[in-house]
Amino acid sequence: MLLRAVLDFGLIAPVESNFEFMSCRGRQATWDSRFALKGSLPHYAPDRAFDTEHIRLEISVDLRRERFRGHCRTRLRAITDGVREMTFDAVNFKITGVRWNGKKSPYRYNDGKITVETKSPVKEGNRVEVDIFYEVVKPKLGLYFIRPSRAYPKNPTQVWTQGEDEYSRYWFPCFDAPHDRTTTEVVATVPFGFTAVSNGRLLRSSHNPRRKTSTFHWRQDIPHATYLVTLTVGRFSVIRDSWKGKPVLYYCEKGREGDARRAFSKTPLMLEFFSKNIGTSYPYAKYAQIAAADFIYGGMENTSATTQTDGALLDKRASLDYSSDELVAHELAHQWFGDYLTCKDWSHAWLNESFATYFDALFKRHDKGRDEFLLALRVNADAYLSEDKDHYRRSIVTKVFKRPTDLFDRHLYEKGSLVLHMLHQFLGEKLFWKGISTYVRKNRGKAVETLDLINALEEATGRNLRRFFDQWVFGAGHPEFRVRSWWDARKKEICLRVTQIHAVNNETGLFTVDTEFLFRTGKGEKREKVRIDKKSHLFRFRLDSEPALVLFDPDHALLKKLDFPKPEFQWLLQLEKDQNPLGRIDAAQALGKLGSSKAVEALRHALLSDKFWAVRAEAARALGSLASEEGSEILLHSLDILEHPKVRRAVYAALKSFRGRRMYGEIEKRFRKEASYFAEAEGLRALGALNPHKAPEVLRAALKTDSWNDVLRSAALEGFAATKGRQWIPLLLAHTRPGHSQKLRMAAIRCLAAFEGAPEIQPRLIELANDPYLLVQIAAVRVLHQTGDERAVPALKKLMAGDRDGRLKRLAEEAVEKITKNFE
Ligand SMILES: [Zn+2]
Repeated sequence: MLLRAVLDFGLIAPVESNFEFMSCRGRQATWDSRFALKGSLPHYAPDRAFDTEHIRLEISVDLRRERFRGHCRTRLRAITDGVREMTFDAVNFKITGVRWNGKKSPYRYNDGKITVETKSPVKEGNRVEVDIFYEVVKPKLGLYFIRPSRAYPKNPTQVWTQGEDEYSRYWFPCFDAPHDRTTTEVVATVPFGFTAVSNGRLLRSSHNPRRKTSTFHWRQDIPHATYLVTLTVGRFSVIRDSWKGKPVLYYCEKGREGDARRAFSKTPLMLEFFSKNIGTSYPYAKYAQIAAADFIYGGMENTSATTQTDGALLDKRASLDYSSDELVAHELAHQWFGDYLTCKDWSHAWLNESFATYFDALFKRHDKGRDEFLLALRVNADAYLSEDKDHYRRSIVTKVFKRPTDLFDRHLYEKGSLVLHMLHQFLGEKLFWKGISTYVRKNRGKAVETLDLINALEEATGRNLRRFFDQWVFGAGHPEFRVRSWWDARKKEICLRVTQIHAVNNETGLFTVDTEFLFRTGKGEKREKVRIDKKSHLFRFRLDSEPALVLFDPDHALLKKLDFPKPEFQWLLQLEKDQNPLGRIDAAQALGKLGSSKAVEALRHALLSDKFWAVRAEAARALGSLASEEGSEILLHSLDILEHPKVRRAVYAALKSFRGRRMYGEIEKRFRKEASYFAEAEGLRALGALNPHKAPEVLRAALKTDSWNDVLRSAALEGFAATKGRQWIPLLLAHTRPGHSQKLRMAAIRCLAAFEGAPEIQPRLIELANDPYLLVQIAAVRVLHQTGDERAVPALKKLMAGDRDGRLKRLAEEAVEKITKNFE
């Protein structure tokens, strides 16, 4: 499952791609520092009396009334002797009949569980069949109806499901835990003209002219977990691609075929890349991606039939500097890590998410090269480090949580991806892939826990990895290093004092890491390997002459924080010569703080001529942070010659810090001609920040402009918010109303955070916390967390209970805690 990508606005802000999050953040939220909320308990996978062997689900969907009838037949095999009953998870069903081996059977139904009983106990290994007939009207979770409405007359009619983590129980009865794996069949009857897509192979489709319905019969032959069972229904167009003879299908609403092609067309390349490197070929009968309207995640890796947000569909202009490859690769990687091998219980969910996150980056390395790969890892590191600093610290594998959704955070995705990267560096290319392919080969078709990974890696590589996993996966945090270097001219030695300066406690110890120093002298570069395993080390290395540059961890392999001050001449050389783009980015940041004329000149040079766009963008940011006359000239000049749209975005953002009439005019002259939506949007934000009197006219015009995912209208609202003028609050509030695109409404909500204390805001946010669209609710609760007072508490408390999305419950609970604490 992917939260960020196109849809999740609040979680991370990769500088190069997350246009939604650039401004309007208000002040930094101060979250509760505890991961485990009140009432958190240790979680263990539930016991099983039966193994589920097969689920056959017949479902008939009434789109107009938003309800469906189901008949679920489950074949079960008794794991032990003497079992008399079977309990299924099933929430808010109207049960119309239950049979045990074909005979009407007594059952109890309460607290979201149906227990079906038998008179004679079942012997170990014997099979039984249980039929449950039921109806669900307007389901609260699990299965979603998207329809045109008065506010959204152009909405398509669709149905999609979302099973992860424990929501399949809202649409079919099942033993809803990831360690029970089963083959499945979905036979879906929908109105004529609609297509139903599910897991596995399409066995047949038929039409009933009398009833005006179509029935689609799908069968998934390789066992999988219940949370991966899917159904999507819509008037879809299908684009047919293929990989090694297997169908690769992209489903979208009619008219979006070109956009779907732009979003998904690298899928066969990814299938090839993953199959080859993982050493186990893509196992399923087909691979479909279905673009779903108003989807509540970026994507969901349902086995062989991934649901993707339709926000990932790309028009031509958006595809200039935005790509859905990350999302597509992430969900595809899950087909191995998550679907073919599934975490045994949610405490090991990193075996799904960290792998999908890292393998998406690995595809990027294959497709776009090393620099983009390293940048993606840096973005991941920043996301994790900011959660660690501003919110909480936890170990990646932890049993104690309140709800499984709590775990789906920056530790699970981003930190885990960096841990896998360290493992990759530590083992080297050959052993890493040998280890991964052994892990997959030995565990395919099974539920896995972290020990299975360790055992497979150790078997394949001969290395003992217990310390590595103890410190990075079962322990929490990361090392913080202080490095000081000096030259001993008498002995011709470079001296380096390395200290682990982080607080050591029960969850974060001293780290043992192998790393390197790189020294650059007149004679070239020299590397020295070191092991750090104590609080403090003094290293001395003999060199011909004093080095002009010293690098610690020159490959940026370690997840760490580093305090390593250097003289200006070293930063200058690092910006110019470091082969690693992350080293050059670090140097640009450091020089942006120094601000000497040499620093400015070096940043100018980097902005105009570094070979990697992200270093140029960082140089722009650094020049912006200096806010000098000279810097503004350089930035303006760069707009006349630089073409890369992501650099242009960074330049517009940097220009925001230069007040004065002239800058406004220069931006106004240029921004409309931008090829990229995002550069144009950045121009709008800058105008709002630069001139609160003149900008509104331009911003109003932008509010009338259509763009992909409402990028331009959202930026215009952010421009209004940047003027800080309270007279624009009604305009922002108006854009939170239904009728505007959901993305625009979310942007408007985020902008309200800039006007903390304005009396008209909180009542509206409280209303929005109960909006029918989940992501709007989440956006409103996030802003209430930042700006709300005790009047919001009753509404927030209501969101903490009942049949609601786990993310929303957690955010509401955190908001209540913070507001209550402030109040006290
Ligand atoms: Zn995922």
